[in-house]
Amino acid sequence: MKRKRSAVKEVYTLVDLQNWRELDPPIRLGVFGDPVEHSLSPQMQNAALKRCQIDMQYARFHILPNELRDALELIRKLEFLGLNLTIPHKIVAVELMDAADENVKRIGAANVVKVDAGKLHGSNTDGRGFVRAVREEFSVDLRDLRILVLGAGGAARAIALQCAKENCERLVIANGTFEKGQKLADSLRSFFEGPKVFGPVPRLQAIPWEEKAFRFQVGNVDLVVNATPIGLNRGDVSPIPTRLLAPHVMVYDTIYSDKRTPLVGAAIEAGARAANGLSMLLHQGALAFEIWFQREAPLEAMRAAIR
Ligand code: NAP
Repeated sequence: MKRKRSAVKEVYTLVDLQNWRELDPPIRLGVFGDPVEHSLSPQMQNAALKRCQIDMQYARFHILPNELRDALELIRKLEFLGLNLTIPHKIVAVELMDAADENVKRIGAANVVKVDAGKLHGSNTDGRGFVRAVREEFSVDLRDLRILVLGAGGAARAIALQCAKENCERLVIANGTFEKGQKLADSLRSFFEGPKVFGPVPRLQAIPWEEKAFRFQVGNVDLVVNATPIGLNRGDVSPIPTRLLAPHVMVYDTIYSDKRTPLVGAAIEAGARAANGLSMLLHQGALAFEIWFQREAPLEAMRAAIR
């Protein structure tokens, strides 16, 4: 039967998946989120598909938390190739996978799904995407750095695990709910038991979300990473104010925006180098493309699409 030629909608829903109509080229990839309208993944991944002359499309799906299970079942039946998962699905989805990478089990969050012979396989590319982003933005490797991570949610756990795996000099975790930060630090303890010693401050620690603690730590770290959503909403102020930042630190805000995020603004005002999460978005997306297609991603086409 001839496929119906029609334009891809801005956002699809569960109802669309239940009454699926094939397009030409067919939609075989997408991102599930709530909200999802802001996602730049479709433009980035569609640019990659086009550059590689792969005859399929990538779409946005607004899937509510209580719809995730059904939506994943439909993806399996409709023979999609894969998905990205974003807020709030990364954590809940892990239980719905048939198989998952080791780091997904450790982090407890998946941002990439590959459908393989009807089975859902979860991966997490946020950590490796972060490493590539930091290297690109600041020309440094994590193993040389003392790092302060703000947050203990899905993104923070992926980043903290990667910092630990890369044997960073020091890792400090600050989270709104201190116990969650402490739990994350405890889960990484085995990575920091080696002979590397760094002065009088501990190599691994969780700190309370307090001005005094931030002031001390900023003097003892090289890189500050925001892995909280603070800065996403209009009216948000920087999670660390300018007066607590210093010119020697590099600041990476995982939030991406075409304007300065509050943290990037505060860092620049303090004379520090700063970057937002566009480069992490690019690299986690390129790694996802490589999982789906087992071939190198066309990085420059993807970069141009989100610039
Ligand atoms: P999440 O799982 O909901 O975690 C959010 C974390 O932020 C929690 O630990 C939470 O602390 C903390 N937090 C939230 N509001 C806070 C506040 N007012 N004060 C102190 N801590 C606060 O979210 P996620 O999936 O990790 O995503 C976090 C951010 O990462 C998102 O904004 C997203 O934009 C960004 N991200 C970017 C990329 C990229 O490619 N650039 C990829 C992934 C994520 P509690 O434990 O106290 O609740």
